[in-house]
Formats: sequence, C-alpha cells, structure tokens
Amino acid sequence: MLFNQLGLSAELQRAVAEQGYSEPTPIQAKAIPEVLKGADVLAGAQTGTGKTAGFTLPLLHRLSQNAPKGGKRPVRALVLTPTRELAAQVSDSVKTYGKNLPLKSAVIFGGVSINPQIAALKRGVDILVATPGRLLDHVGQGNLDLSEVETLVLDEADRMLDMGFIHDIRKVLRLLPDQRQNLLFSATFSDEIKRLADGFMHNPVLVEV
Ligand code: AMP
Repeated sequence: MLFNQLGLSAELQRAVAEQGYSEPTPIQAKAIPEVLKGADVLAGAQTGTGKTAGFTLPLLHRLSQNAPKGGKRPVRALVLTPTRELAAQVSDSVKTYGKNLPLKSAVIFGGVSINPQIAALKRGVDILVATPGRLLDHVGQGNLDLSEVETLVLDEADRMLDMGFIHDIRKVLRLLPDQRQNLLFSATFSDEIKRLADGFMHNPVLVEV
C-alpha cells in the first residue's frame, strides 16, 4: 500500500512525502479511507502507531474540500486530547500536514495564559486542538462557538476517562451539532469507553491493528 492510493489530495501527499513517509502504517491504511468517506470511526491504536496522521490527514482533506472563503471562520473540527503535551503534538502534526492548505488551526490547554488563546480564537480557526477543561473555560467566557463543528476527534479516549474528564466530555458533546462525524481513538476498550462510544457515535466502523 502506498500513500497515493488512499485518496488524499496532492497537497497532503506532498506534505507526507516531505516527512519522508512512503507507506501508510496499518492504522493509517485502515482509518484514512473510512474517515474520508465521512464515517464514524472507533479505532484501537496505541501511541507510536501513526494514529495522529491517521485522523489528521483525512480531516484536513475533508475540511479543505469546502474551505471557507474569507469572512467568518467557525471551528469545523475539534480534537480533544487528555494532556497539554498531546495537544501540542497533535497541533504540530496538523500544522505540518496542513502546511500546503489554506486552513487555520489553534491549540488551547490549561496551565498557560488564556489571553493569547483568546486572540487566536478571534482570528478564526478551522481546526481546534484542545484539552477539555480549558476548552470549557473558553466556552464559559463566550470566546468560542462550537455550533458548526463538523468532526469531533477524541484522541486517547481511555486516558481522558482515566483522568476524570468524562463529565467535561459530556458537556462538550452537548455543545456540538447533532449532525457530525465522530472519531474515537483509544489504546484500550473498557466498558466505560464502550458506553461512551455507544452514547454518541453512529454505526462506527471498527478499526483495529
Ligand atoms: P503517533 O502514533 O501518531 O504518535 O506517531 C508516531 C510516530 O510515527 C510519529 O513520530 C510520526 O511522525 C511517525 N509516523 C507517522 N506516520 C508514519 C508513516 N506513514 N511512516 C513513518 N513514520 C510515520
């Protein structure tokens, strides 16, 4: 399997080639075509499997298909991560793979000043990577409208539950439009993860490696 067989745009294939990747990892080969189709995807993948590109590449592809032309720039993709370190890593991947695309991204997490994050949100963001607590702080302050989110990604969902984020996740889910694509990545599938997934995903395609 080669990257150019997955249906990704030329701009994305170029960004991938510049990273020196020729072949997709197993999780990428399985997840990318499903995410491109718009399916909900429940993926079992550990860190180190290439899972980040597995959701970032098709997410960027879909968003760039109908990129807004100036004017209002609502958040159309929301990626939730358990930690600031992971949020920063995912945000770096979004920037690296999306560098040839006219899309804007931002990352927000706790433990740092909120003002630069407010400024970034004001400038308009297509893809927002966030930890749940700080995300809800911004919502509470009226800095952020999530009513036009088309795709939600829960990355390392098992760690988010272990860290006690279930209530925050449920709060965020209530802020999103009903009609959207849902992607959930988790290294393990406890009963709690299954209950969470059952509650908000629609006939998810199961991807395991
Ligand atoms: P992740 O599991 O998303 O944290 O990715 C693990 C590492 O694999 C990261 O350093 C990526 O840059 C790298 N990586 C992702 N996709 C590929 C690929 N198709 N070929 C080689 N390395 C990759």
